Amino acid sequence: MTLTPRQAAVRALAAKAPTGARFPLPEESITETYGAFVFNDAAQRKHLPRDTYKRLRRTINLGEALDPSIAGTVANAMKDWAVSHGATHYSHWFQPMTGSTAEKQDSFITPTGTGSAILEFSGKELTQGEPDASSLPSGGIRVTFEARGYTAWDPLSPAFLRHSPNGVTLTIPTAFCSWTGEALDTKTPLLRSNAALDTQARRVLDLLQKPGEPQVGRVFTNVGAEQEFFLIDRELFYLRPDLMACGRTLFGAPPPKGQEQDDHYFASMPGRVMAFMQDLERRLWRLGIPIKTRHNEVAPSQYEMAPIFESVTVACDHNMLVMDLLHEVARGHGMKCLLHEKPYSGLNGSGKHNNYSVGTDLGHNLLDPGKEPHENQRFMVFLTALIAAVDKHQDLLRSTVASVGNDHRLGANEAPPAIMSIFMGSDLQGVIESIIAGEAHAGLKGEKLHLGVSSLPNLPRDTTDRNRTSPFAFTGNKFEFRAPGSSQSLAYPNYVLNTILAESLEDIAESIEALPEGGRDENAVQAILRTMLTEHERILFPGDNYAAAWTVEAERRGLLNLHDTPSALAELNAPKNLALFEKYGVLSEREWLSRTAIVSEAYQEKLRVEARVAVDMAATMFLPAGLRAQHKTADSLNAARTACQSLDLDVQIIHLTKIAKLISDLQANIDNLRDRIANPAVDDDEVVCARKSATNLIPAMSQLREVIDELETLVPDDLWPVPKYRELLTVH
Ligand code: ADP
Ligand code: MG
Repeated sequence: MTLTPRQAAVRALAAKAPTGARFPLPEESITETYGAFVFNDAAQRKHLPRDTYKRLRRTINLGEALDPSIAGTVANAMKDWAVSHGATHYSHWFQPMTGSTAEKQDSFITPTGTGSAILEFSGKELTQGEPDASSLPSGGIRVTFEARGYTAWDPLSPAFLRHSPNGVTLTIPTAFCSWTGEALDTKTPLLRSNAALDTQARRVLDLLQKPGEPQVGRVFTNVGAEQEFFLIDRELFYLRPDLMACGRTLFGAPPPKGQEQDDHYFASMPGRVMAFMQDLERRLWRLGIPIKTRHNEVAPSQYEMAPIFESVTVACDHNMLVMDLLHEVARGHGMKCLLHEKPYSGLNGSGKHNNYSVGTDLGHNLLDPGKEPHENQRFMVFLTALIAAVDKHQDLLRSTVASVGNDHRLGANEAPPAIMSIFMGSDLQGVIESIIAGEAHAGLKGEKLHLGVSSLPNLPRDTTDRNRTSPFAFTGNKFEFRAPGSSQSLAYPNYVLNTILAESLEDIAESIEALPEGGRDENAVQAILRTMLTEHERILFPGDNYAAAWTVEAERRGLLNLHDTPSALAELNAPKNLALFEKYGVLSEREWLSRTAIVSEAYQEKLRVEARVAVDMAATMFLPAGLRAQHKTADSLNAARTACQSLDLDVQIIHLTKIAKLISDLQANIDNLRDRIANPAVDDDEVVCARKSATNLIPAMSQLREVIDELETLVPDDLWPVPKYRELLTVH
């Protein structure tokens, strides 16, 4: 029997080695591996003169401007270190607004003019690059004739070595901007938002400082990014044009067995996946990426990994590398990693939980309630600031997670809804309510709660008290923002969080500063918090965010329900948002508007690709499959009738009629979608155009899918041209 490509792939899959025995671990130990290829503190100490080392560390640890006179020495040391590990090239690595990373590589080789060459790397080459990169999106900031783009070294994020089969490249994290100094990437606003938060947070801390207490020198945010993803066998992947072009299946009837039995969640990892994970972790450790946790997720073939948290810029850089390496390492193990937010309809999608806290150079976590009354007060100030910030800027926070992919996930009863709200846990919720009421909190033995004087009731960090349905949940000493999609960069959510928190902290600082001399006591601070909490209490929601009743309740409270990307985009250019970013020096009006344009354009482009792939697959794969099935069924009926005139064939005729009807529906739906692609939505306003494109394409694609998914259940299995869900979800 000749096998169809699909049958051949499934057979090959079944024959694959069931364990990771084919991928033996090398001899190296974990501790030797960790950070071996990173120009980190240890490498700097070893390779730099003492004085240069100290000055570089001041920049890294305290955020001081880099002394340009040391750049040459650092560059040379970095090159020597890299060359000793086999590097021949260096690259400025950056994060343009495509959502992924970009780089331009140059070799260290410099001809001397006498027929020989030396390896050279100057201070200027380290600190500044000019990759041009004129095809990267700029949202109109750059016109091609003045297309120069510059990269600038980010000393806060360690340079690292990337190993590929035939060489090693020194990779230098950089920021990317235009010749006018305008940001063209996601890192620049993140760095700027760090500075804004640092300024406003220290302003508040100084006001709360008690006599004799050390002064905080720097405030920064920490982030731990939990990364979810799917794995799929490579051979099956390449039989699905939708997975190849869109990263998700556009069609597929529900499998007989999905995630109903919850038997995949936290189950033991299939051997092949385990081998992949271990290989991946080892490679991430080599880059100093502290991957800590791995487990099976809810859907079949879905997994998660999480690092130990790091300072926000490093965490964001590292997450970009994690995504890169997920793809790269999967290849070596005969698999494909799907980072799409919703590769399979009807199964859980993938997110990227952004665990967020605020730290200081003295080692405090300002979102940790602490034990002492004074720590409690500081905590409540930062907590209140964040609550106010999220309520005031629901629209912005929502927009940071808006994308074609995430639209399938948010609100789909497995991921937080598109309505932003905060979960505090019942103890803290009680404390907040008592502050608002100006009453004693139960559990405080009847005394009145005065922050800074009395202690908060003991707040247990109890994992059972965790609400997994909330988009923004307090988890003991950090907030977990659960709405980000699995494929996105975390820079955008975090620069928005930093900026809105900076604004709230400034509001608090101004209120304290406005108090009369000598009146800045605990009661006065508590009164300020009380006013803010009263105003923003509506954003707190302790219940089930998946319940339909929450949508109704949220509307009553006046919370925004921006259910898809076009509605999120529609709020973005509101004057309040432009003013916010401008005020804190995070993004100018022009920079912000360019971003909105890029996001809208990317949204539409992705939709168009999906529509084109859908039509193509429908017309050239599924329609012919339907016709073949019709032919076979009709042939069989004819043959049966010829063989025996008296046979009752009524039921079989109904079956044939069903197939014929689906084929007609299919043809009509293909024509409809084709027409819509040929007549795209137009509007001068990119944001309006995004909405029109969605209305033009999405319903037509859904209708097409419905017909094809039904057809899949009727067409003989050997005639179905692509692997089905039941096969895609198996990589054991
Ligand atoms: P869960 O799935 O229960 O939320 P995980 O262990 O998978 O927990 O992930 C928790 C993430 O939060 C990890 O990346 C962890 O390093 C991070 N994290 C822990 N404490 C903090 C903190 N103070 N600030 C930021 N992130 C933190
Ligand atoms: Mg989590």
